[in-house]
Amino acid sequence: MSNDEPLLLIISSPSGAGKTTLANRLLERVSGLTFSVSHTTRKPRAKEVDGREYHFVDRESFEELIRTNAFLEWATVHDNLYGTSRAEVERARGGRGILFDVDHQGARQIKSVRPDAVAVFILPPSMAVLKQRLKGRASDDAETVERRFNVAREEIAHYGLFDYVLMNDDLERATQELCSIVLAEECRRGRAARLAERLLAETHGFGGTVPPHTKE
Ligand code: ADP
Ligand code: 5GP
Repeated sequence: MSNDEPLLLIISSPSGAGKTTLANRLLERVSGLTFSVSHTTRKPRAKEVDGREYHFVDRESFEELIRTNAFLEWATVHDNLYGTSRAEVERARGGRGILFDVDHQGARQIKSVRPDAVAVFILPPSMAVLKQRLKGRASDDAETVERRFNVAREEIAHYGLFDYVLMNDDLERATQELCSIVLAEECRRGRAARLAERLLAETHGFGGTVPPHTKE
């Protein structure tokens, strides 16, 4: 079903819980979803490509974007600046949906300007597993791993902001749950309203009496 508005999907988690992995799997399985490429002052990791995972910029350029109101939201996370540009949301116009990988501050800001956005929080099965995954990623030094692990508690404390909470234990099950959320959200009455209204309009062509419809 085509939607009136692209679905705004926010995905968030403590660092290392697996949101990037899940986001990539979702993008592979649900065609037409666009990934919102954020700006960041963080240095690229080994396999990251500028313009794909992030737009990597220096602090001065980032601050200029703040001054010119280019961001829908921005925040300081793990001592770096991260932000979602308004241009990314524009890019997704006319499509099926856009996926934002942001922290809880970003989720709150997006929800405040777009209450229709759907926010999903990913949890690890335990703190021990979270630490293992942070270390296993092997892209950050020990100090960064420790800092990210210490911030995890604060991040998890914000789970109440989110519409859905998934546990990423079994990767395939968690992927299917995430895909199911997207499919269910697309069937919400508000999004399906255009089809229902078109069918009601079509009934005029068939003659007979049409009961007045009510919006409950
Ligand atoms: P995040 O984006 O939340 O920081 P990543 O997606 O980078 O986390 O995942 C962190 C590490 O955990 C990666 O090495 C990833 O391959 C691994 N991982 C993710 N999900 C699972 C899972 N369900 N089971 C085992 N390892 C996982
Ligand atoms: P990483 O450095 O591991 O890619 O991301 C660190 C954290 O920053 C993650 O929690 C990620 O969701 C968050 N993040 C990435 N992009 C944005 C953004 O544009 N805005 C906000 N608020 N957080 C972001």
